[in-house]
Amino acid sequence: MISKLTPVSFLERSAAAFPDRVGVIDGERRLTWGELREHTRRLAVGLQAEGFERGDRVAFLAPNVPELLEAHFGVPRAGCVLVAVNTRLLADEVDYILRHSGSRLVVVDPSLAHLVPAGLRTLVIGESYEEFLAAAPDGEPEERLEDEEDTISINYTSGTTGRPKGVMYTHRGAYLNALSEALHAKLDSRSVYLWTLPMFHCNGWCFTWAVTAVGATHVCLPKVDPPEVWRLLEAEGVTHLNGAPTVLVMLASDPEARILERPVQVTTAGAPPPPAVIERTEALGFRINHVYGLTETYGPITICEWNSAWDELDAEERSRLKARQGLNMATADPVRVVDGEMRDVPDDGETMGEVVMRGNNVMKGYFAGEAATAEAFRGGWFHSGDLAVMHPSGYIEIRDRAKDIIISGGENISTVEVEKVLVSHPDVLEAAVVAMPDEKWGERPMAFVCLRAGAVLDAAELISFARRSLPGFKAPSAVEFGELPKTSTGKVKKFELRERARSAAARS
Ligand code: AMP
Repeated sequence: MISKLTPVSFLERSAAAFPDRVGVIDGERRLTWGELREHTRRLAVGLQAEGFERGDRVAFLAPNVPELLEAHFGVPRAGCVLVAVNTRLLADEVDYILRHSGSRLVVVDPSLAHLVPAGLRTLVIGESYEEFLAAAPDGEPEERLEDEEDTISINYTSGTTGRPKGVMYTHRGAYLNALSEALHAKLDSRSVYLWTLPMFHCNGWCFTWAVTAVGATHVCLPKVDPPEVWRLLEAEGVTHLNGAPTVLVMLASDPEARILERPVQVTTAGAPPPPAVIERTEALGFRINHVYGLTETYGPITICEWNSAWDELDAEERSRLKARQGLNMATADPVRVVDGEMRDVPDDGETMGEVVMRGNNVMKGYFAGEAATAEAFRGGWFHSGDLAVMHPSGYIEIRDRAKDIIISGGENISTVEVEKVLVSHPDVLEAAVVAMPDEKWGERPMAFVCLRAGAVLDAAELISFARRSLPGFKAPSAVEFGELPKTSTGKVKKFELRERARSAAARS
């Protein structure tokens, strides 16, 4: 008999293997795998007892707390679909997602209760939600999984333009992606995983299920507070964490930063990590696992698989190679880089094309979004909107988002390439480059730069530094210093910077 692939089975197994061992740490709270299983059983049975049907959506709006982790098992065990909502949205956006997903119930953390619209059934964590779990009948929930392609969760995209889209994950896809994550991050039952990545983002890149699959310990963290992260690394013996490159920058530049006594494995994605950031972070003893993906690919789909022959190279060269996005993860299908006619670009490390993907680790489609799904999958492949080159080794390297690339005098300028050079300046912490309108060239690069605390550097110095590594037309023609605006998942808000660049051009 072939059984259906579902990550729900991971918790059953870890609870059987380690019933009395701590599975989740949340501040002073400690929950064993047996307790976790019991909470998820109650959630599943409670939902079924209240008449929730197969496929009904159940929303959670909470920071990284044990209840949200449990929801990743309890909701699908009831046959329902989890909608983990981004906690940093405005009330109007939360309202849209809850309505669009048709959620019948929302479970909310007390700190976020003000974001939930009136009229929707709401349970509050620590209050009415506890009563709901306590009242759940005895016994196991009825098995409602009919097909491994049933939807397990809906994750809403960040939607920088237009309304967010609801990306549907299947039980099978979540199962396979979680196993890949565990394999590539080298998680095992002795690992201690710190939740620096929001669980609401692609179900924590499927690490909610991956960490559980191997029976590693989850350490919850409601928000990324660098001194607290440094404290927990030691206090809880953390071995693994995940985050966007900006999280690496925050950790490495924190006054608490120090050389680690034992290595910590960091899986990074969400934005291109500049080689200089990889190098600075690894110098502290972190081991970086660089992966790439989108909400539509369950989070990571490619990995810069390390080749031991590269160990011999110097740190700068190693970081340059590690900044590549690599190839398909173990359970994903190979990705392609194609031109406008869906032909593969040559693997010359130079010709840019769009990254397209399909198969096990690509979403089922957008919920209630048939037209958007058809558009995204034109030609039978999911179109990422990311521009990359293919290296002769078969590894991809992202050069830009299609909508962010700069075209100056008819030449393409990869903003990622310019950012890499700027961040290699020792005084620069982070940099973002966008197009600035230019009468003569159409567009010119403008840089927004965040300096290290105490550093003194002016625009002219930084521009001449860039000109030493880049052809003149790629060097920024203007620089503005200050904090970079970011989304809740650590991406620079380039649309906002483009506005600022437009105003700067109008002033000059
Ligand atoms: P999201 O769907 O919000 O997770 O955003 C996905 C986008 O983040 C991708 O389309 C890429 O533009 C960007 N991204 C994610 N990981 C990487 C990475 N490792 N390198 C470069 N860009 C990345």
